Amino acid sequence: MIQAPRGTFDILPESAAQRRLVEDSADRILGAAGYRRIETPTFEATTLFARGVGEATDIVQKEMYTFDDGGGRSLTLRPEGTAPVCRAYLEHGMRKLAQPVKLWYLGAFFRAEAPQRGRYRQFWQVGAEAIGTDTPETDAELIVLLAELLDAVGVKADRLRLSSLGTPATRAEYREELQAYLHAHEDQLADEVRSRIDLNPFRAFDSGDRGTQAVMRDAPKLLDSLDPADAAHFAQVRALLDDAGLPYELDPMLVRGMDYYTRTVFEFTSSELGAQSGVGGGGRYDGLIELLDGPPTPACGWAAGVERMLLAAGELPHPSELVDLFVALARTGTGEEQRGFELTRQARRAGLQAQLELTGRSLKGQLKHADRLGARFVAIVGDNGVATLKDMESGEQRDTEVENVIPSILRAERLP
Ligand code: AMP
Repeated sequence: MIQAPRGTFDILPESAAQRRLVEDSADRILGAAGYRRIETPTFEATTLFARGVGEATDIVQKEMYTFDDGGGRSLTLRPEGTAPVCRAYLEHGMRKLAQPVKLWYLGAFFRAEAPQRGRYRQFWQVGAEAIGTDTPETDAELIVLLAELLDAVGVKADRLRLSSLGTPATRAEYREELQAYLHAHEDQLADEVRSRIDLNPFRAFDSGDRGTQAVMRDAPKLLDSLDPADAAHFAQVRALLDDAGLPYELDPMLVRGMDYYTRTVFEFTSSELGAQSGVGGGGRYDGLIELLDGPPTPACGWAAGVERMLLAAGELPHPSELVDLFVALARTGTGEEQRGFELTRQARRAGLQAQLELTGRSLKGQLKHADRLGARFVAIVGDNGVATLKDMESGEQRDTEVENVIPSILRAERLP
C-alpha cells in the first residue's frame, strides 16, 4: 500500500473545524490591525533562501527540498515565509505604498527534518510581517498580536522568551568574542559544536549537550554588548509589553534558525509540546531586504506553526456538523428520484445543510442512515409530489406537498 511520505500527514475532515478556527482567528485579529493577506508560491529560486535565510543555517545546509526544474534552474520548496514575502514586496514595488506594509499569510512549508511529534516535513504556518518601519511599537504590536492569536486558538503558551541581537556590526564584534571564548573551552564542547565554532558559533547556545550547556552558561552574552541605540530600542519594546500586561522572560540565549534577524527576537513556547516546544516566534530583520538587492528597509515579523498551535491547544470543542434535512425516497422510481434531487438542491439554496440518499438503500436503511448523520428532519419523497416530513427530534411526522417541505423546516427551525 502506498503511504503518505515520511514526515507528512493528511488533514482529514475531522480536523477541518479546528484548522478553520486558526485561519478565522488570524483573519480577524490580524485584519483588525491592518494586516492584509498575501500568498506566495510554494517554491522559489533556491538563491532566495540561500541568501535570505543564510548559507550557514541548518535550514539551508540540511533541510531544503531543492530540485532542478528541468531547465537548469534550481528551485526550492519554501522552508519559511519571510524571504518570499520580502521578494514579493520588492517585485511588486510595495515600497512605493504608504509604509509600513503589513501582510499576513497561511500556507504549507517544507523542511527535511527528522520527524517527531510536532515536527514534520510539510507543515503549515501562519505568519505576519510589517515592512518599512523600525519603530519599537511595531515589534511590540506584532508580539501582542501573536499572543492574541495563540489565546484565541486556546494555546496554552506558558512562556514568551525575548531578546535582542543588536545590529550586524555589534553581532560581528560579539561573534569574535564568543569564538575566542568557545576556542578557550573547546575540550568541554560537543563535537558538533566544536566543528562549527568558525561557521556558526551562536548555535552553541542551542546545543542539547550537557557539557556544552555548562560552558554556555558563563559565555559572554550579546545582550550585554548592545550599542546604545539598540539598547534603547529594546528597552522601549519591553516597556510597551509591560504596559500591555504581557509577561516575558529575557533570554539572552535565545537563538533563532535564520541569519536575517537583527535587534528584537522572540519565541512563544508551550510545555504541552515536549521537545518541540516552540509554538511561534520571530523578530526584526532590518537587513533582509537589502540582502535581496532592495533599498535599506527595516521590518519585523513572526510565524507560528498551525499543527503546534493545535497540539498545544489540546482538545477543542468539536462543533457538530448539523444536517438539517435528509431527503429519502419512498421507493426508487424516476419521478421520485428527480423530485428528491430537486428538493435537495432547493434546500441547499435556502441555506439548509441537505443530503440526498445516494446509495439506493431501502427506506428502513435510509432512516437509519439519516439518524446516524444526526439529521434534524427527514423528507420521504413519495408518489405524486407528496412527502412525509419527519421531525427526528420529536418523532412526529405528517404528509405534505413537496413544495411545503422547505418552508416548514425554515419555520420550525426559527422556533425556540
Ligand atoms: P521558524 O520559521 O523556524 O521560526 O518556526 C516558526 C514556527 O513554525 C515554530 O514555532 C513551529 O511552530 C513551526 N515549525 C517550524 N518548523 C516546523 C516543523 N518542521 N514542523 C512543524 N512545525 C514547525
